[in-house]
Amino acid sequence: MMNFNEYQELSKRTMPDHDNAEKRFLAVANYSLGLMGESGELGDLIKKEIFHGHPADLEKVKKEAGDVLHYLAGIATLYGFSLQEAAGMNIEKLKKRYPEGFSTEASMKRVDVK
Ligand SMILES: [Mg+2]
Repeated sequence: MMNFNEYQELSKRTMPDHDNAEKRFLAVANYSLGLMGESGELGDLIKKEIFHGHPADLEKVKKEAGDVLHYLAGIATLYGFSLQEAAGMNIEKLKKRYPEGFSTEASMKRVDVK
């Protein structure tokens, strides 16, 4: 089982050249649009389950979640941070925001935002 850092490293294999500002800009656009597209594919599967009555296909959901992760890892690489770090920061933020777990009240009175 790999961690986020290992995944991010392996996901670079198909990344286009981004060794100058113009190429990096294009790669950021490519990966951002890819993330939107794959998020849409994942959302479509969920929409079909909830609103069209299709049975959930777990393999398809996992495949699209992986596609989302691929583009997200690419964005992390292009901005020079690790997916592992972003994952850790997110967990810490949510622990602060919802120390007792999610509640509507806590989401309205956010203790982590001044
Ligand atoms: Mg896909």
